[in-house]
Amino acid sequence: MADVPKTTLTDGSPVTPDHREIDPATGQQKAYVVLSAEERAKGFVRPYRDAYRHQTCGKVTTMGRALAETYAREPAFYSGTFCSTCRAHFPVGEAGEFTWFEMDGREGPKVGT
Ligand SMILES: [Zn+2]
Repeated sequence: MADVPKTTLTDGSPVTPDHREIDPATGQQKAYVVLSAEERAKGFVRPYRDAYRHQTCGKVTTMGRALAETYAREPAFYSGTFCSTCRAHFPVGEAGEFTWFEMDGREGPKVGT
């Protein structure tokens, strides 16, 4: 099993060297790395959450299932995340700029913690 990659792109395809290239039209990367489906299936250590608020602009961004599951499986996997309002990436973690937007609308803990 050592040859099974631990990470893939969000669509399950192999990680490409140029995935971090920014699309000038959207500000988003060409592609995003996630934990592989096999890794995500090992269980979550945080609740599944797919929306977060950028404290700087106050707006909520939602993300796809593979990204949300990666955060739930390995909270410190990412060093930064995308804000769809600012159209740029900013840090996550204890000193980061994002908090979880809980399913019931409450403000959750810091993204990446
Ligand atoms: Zn923002």
